[in-house]
This record gives sequence, structure tokens and C-alpha cells, in this order.
Amino acid sequence: MIILVINAGSSSLKYQLYNMNGESVIANGRVERIGMDSSIVIHEPTGKQEVSLVREILDHNTAVKRVIDLLMHPEHGVLGSIDEIKAVGHRVVHGGEIFKQSTIVTDEVKLEIRKLFDLAPLHNPPALMGIAAVEANMGDVKQVVVFDTAFHQSMPQETFLYPIPMVLYRRHKIRRYGFHGTSHNYVSRKAAKVLNKPLESLKMVSCHIGNGASCTAILNGKSYDTSMGLTPLEGLMMGTRSGDLDPAIVPFTMNKEELTLNEVNSMLNKHSGMLAISGISSDMREITEAMQEGDKQAKLAFDMYTYRLRKYIGAYAAAMNGIDVLVFTAGVGENSVVLRKTVCDGLTFLGIELDEERNGERSKEARVISSAESRVTVMVVPTNEELLIARDTYTLVREQV
Ligand code: ADP
Repeated sequence: MIILVINAGSSSLKYQLYNMNGESVIANGRVERIGMDSSIVIHEPTGKQEVSLVREILDHNTAVKRVIDLLMHPEHGVLGSIDEIKAVGHRVVHGGEIFKQSTIVTDEVKLEIRKLFDLAPLHNPPALMGIAAVEANMGDVKQVVVFDTAFHQSMPQETFLYPIPMVLYRRHKIRRYGFHGTSHNYVSRKAAKVLNKPLESLKMVSCHIGNGASCTAILNGKSYDTSMGLTPLEGLMMGTRSGDLDPAIVPFTMNKEELTLNEVNSMLNKHSGMLAISGISSDMREITEAMQEGDKQAKLAFDMYTYRLRKYIGAYAAAMNGIDVLVFTAGVGENSVVLRKTVCDGLTFLGIELDEERNGERSKEARVISSAESRVTVMVVPTNEELLIARDTYTLVREQV
């Protein structure tokens, strides 16, 4: 069965076309700068030449149309007919408390996603636009939505509630939701598979460390606690986000600097984190390079970043009364040898012992990087959110098409 996976952002749309027979990627690509004067489409058909086009693409509807044109293009295409695509899976950031798992799109589901616009004003509207664009271009093909928050719906009240007046939870659903759920779900399953152990038997901490970063405590195969909260701002220090801070800093700064709510929000989300401390960049590669060249601020940013990550791993080991497996994933987690070493070297009290050689290996495969003696198994597991979306879509539609 052929399945199209779509990840629609406000001005971008990424896609991946899977043949579920063998789970191979037939094509992937992205449309960037949707709604701007010169949009860019990059299409990579597997085994053929990559194409990059500049076009006027004013909305998501046209973006999907262009993607379909490319998928069926006589030279760059990979499909003979659009009908070969049996289902489309969409990434949706926020599923609130309603969506505890992936689901087939219906009018009611679309309405519920719309009701969640308040909680994810930047992310849920484009996802719904992506769904509408598929409806407009692909008739009544089956569609499935996969939520970033769904994996974390297993959290118990003691971990998802904030200690603030309960009325705020009841009235406005203010609570911890957590994000990157599709990634934490994928890597935890993959790690257990590689170790050939039931996931339910492992106490695991997964660290998704990319531009955004979050840590999840996985107990009995389910998310027990996670570092991102009501929004993706909470938790670890990130590229441009502060992560945890004293909430009183918000009114204090607004008062001292005469900032508006929007300004302080933007400061914490876009101008904080590694960017703010290093004064150089939000990108871990640039920070590491600058640090190695002796830049003190870059070193401070790195030290703060790794210190905070270590605190979370330690906290989650305590929360679960133990840890068997520690997983690193996403851009930084998968690639930064020095970050993994720095974090693990400070966690020897947990019985973590890295194998330096394994940690230094460059590989795209899921693998163990701890020594044979290490009490905790440390792993690098490349994430693949699109594959999990394709799998959920396949599972939900295979009986119906
Ligand atoms: P996103 O959250 O946007 O999906 P990614 O998971 O792609 O982000 O992660 C991007 C981050 O990964 C950047 O900070 C980048 O510097 C970092 N990164 C990518 N490759 C390396 C590398 N070889 N060494 C260190 N950091 C890396």
C-alpha cells in the first residue's frame, strides 16, 4: 500500500511517500515559503535526480497540487496515477486531551482539531489546511491524523497537573501536554526492539535533542513524564527557547524593560536558549566549533545546556525509581559525540559508562554506545517520525481500502 505523509507548517509543507510493502521511501520533499513571492519546491524521488523549482505558491492547496504534479511527473515522478496513493497521514501538533491516539479524519475530528487552535495557534491551523488541501486535490482518499501530544496522554495527574488553582485546568485545560510524542514513541519502541526486550519491562529516558528539545520518562512502555509542558517552551534549554525558569521573571522583566506580553513571549521562545547565552548561534554545530576555538560564551552555553539535560535525566531516573535505558535522538542527540560524552560523564553515579569508541562511531543505525559493564544501556536511535505516521496510517486504513 502506498501512503503519503504530510507535515504542514504555516509556510512549509514536507512530504514523504512510502510503499508500506517493505516500508521504503519512494519520494520525499518539501515546499518552502508558502504564501511568499517565490516559493521553493524540492522534490527527491528515490533513485532519480533531485528537482528544485521556484514557483508562486500562495496557499497549502496549491502546495499539495504541486506535490501531486511532481509525484506524477513523466520525468521526475514515481506514480502513474494519483489513485495509487491509498491514504494520507498528517502530523498534527496538538491533540489536547481528546486525542489519545492516531485517528481517521472525519468532520468531527476536524472540528475537534479546530477547537484546539487556542492551545496551538501556530501549529494546528496549518495542519487543518493540509487536510483540506488533500480533500481538494485527492477526492475522498482516507486521511489519518497523528498527534505530537498523543503519546503523552498516558501521564498520570501527578505529573501532568501544575500546582496552580484547579479552576485553570477545569476552565482552560491548562496542564502539561508534552510534545515530540511521535519521536519518543518511535525511539522507545525501536530501542526495545534492538535490545530484544519487551518495552514494558524497561525504565527508559529518551532525549529528543534537536532545535527543540525534550526528555521523556517512559515507564511500562508509556510516557510517565515529559519536560515540555502546556507549550514547547518548558523543560530543557534549547536553541532559542529558555526552557525552565522562574515564572516570576516574566512579570519582573515586563515591568523593568517595559515589554508587552507578545514581546516577552517572543524573547523566551526566539531569543533565549543557546542563542542568548552564546551570542553566536542557536545551532549546536556552530556552538561546538566556537567552544573548541576557545570562545567563552559558547562554552558557557554548552555547559548550561548539558547541565540542564543531565538534571532532567537524573530527575527522571528518580521519578521512575531507576533507569535501564537512556536514548539520544534528533539532530544533536544523534550527531553530537561531545554532548553525549559530557552528559554521560556526569552520570556515572547512575552506573552509566560510555564506550568511547562506540560513542564516536558515525552511523545511521540504532546502536548501543555504553560499555558492556554499564548498568544503564545508553543508545543512539535515529528518530523517524514520518515512518511512525505512515505505520499508524497503514494500521488504521488497511481494513478499509
Ligand atoms: P528540528 O528540531 O528542527 O527537527 P533537528 O533535529 O534537525 O532539528 O536538529 C537540529 C540541531 O542538530 C541543530 O542544533 C544542529 O546544529 C544539530 N546538529 C546537526 N548535526 C550535528 C552534528 N554533526 N554535530 C552537532 N550538532 C548537530
